[in-house]
Amino acid sequence: RAEHALAADTAPGATRDGHPVALLANIGTAADAERVAPGAAQGVGLFRTEVLFLERSTEPTVAEQAQTYGRALTALGGRKVVVRTLDAGADKPLAFATQPDEENPALGVRGFRLVRSNPDLVEHQLEALARAQAETGVEPWVMAPMVATPDEARDFASRARAHGLTTVGVMVEVPAAALRAREILAEVDFVSLGTNDLAQYTMATDRLRGELADLLDPWQPAVLELVAATARAGTALGKPVGVCGESASDPLMALVLVGLGVTSLSMAPSAIPAVRYAVRAHTADQCAAIAAAALGAGSAQSARATVLAQLDPGV
Ligand code: PEP
Ligand code: MG
Repeated sequence: RAEHALAADTAPGATRDGHPVALLANIGTAADAERVAPGAAQGVGLFRTEVLFLERSTEPTVAEQAQTYGRALTALGGRKVVVRTLDAGADKPLAFATQPDEENPALGVRGFRLVRSNPDLVEHQLEALARAQAETGVEPWVMAPMVATPDEARDFASRARAHGLTTVGVMVEVPAAALRAREILAEVDFVSLGTNDLAQYTMATDRLRGELADLLDPWQPAVLELVAATARAGTALGKPVGVCGESASDPLMALVLVGLGVTSLSMAPSAIPAVRYAVRAHTADQCAAIAAAALGAGSAQSARATVLAQLDPGV
């Protein structure tokens, strides 16, 4: 019954004192977009386009891509849609583009780095997005994965803008990008923290190795420091900083992220009601105090415990 009441709540995300926090959905297909009911999410914060490319022997045509992106834009009916360009490589190998023989694929040619060997892949994708924009009249936000430097951010932004795409960002999922978030944000309109990879690269821990889950924990204070640095840069430049990694779906972590200055949270649609409820139960000041407590902790475990102890007893 309580769950039903939670799911029926379609208000935009906000703290108790009205500080807005956009609650967005992570999707992988146009069909997923069609299942994001109005009110369930304020839009899509991560459209993982690689799903369209995986298990194929050749690149999908620009026309096919444009149709898929257009379907997603139409389904969201003008709500925000952040489309991520191809994130192939490492845990997402691509038969026709990635190298099968890399010794350290997570540190290799993955994500936006494919532009070095296959610039056509990203160019075709941007062309398809521009076509979808023209056909639907909806402007997508577009972002590149696995960007490590401001130069890469500038390269992506100039390619996207050359196609007529106006809201351009990059993911922050490499520690170098978090440490230089201000310089990266100077090149783009927004960033989105991919905490799955940010934890992997900060903690030097393969995200697929279950037995190292304690190290991969996004509550690791070192990971939180990098999130905090990125959010500070966003606040300083007045540009949005979202989180689209799995950590955004943890209601406790959501409070920490809001307290650090993150402006949107994107997650599996099923996680949104509980996050909406948790955020609305706290003021922006309470979230800031919760975030400070988490940052001050000595371990992931004690960060979690400290935050639990700080929760408003009425919740
Ligand atoms: C991330 O790394 O946190 C992320 C959202 O991207 P993916 O999980 O697709 O690598
Ligand atoms: Mg990632």
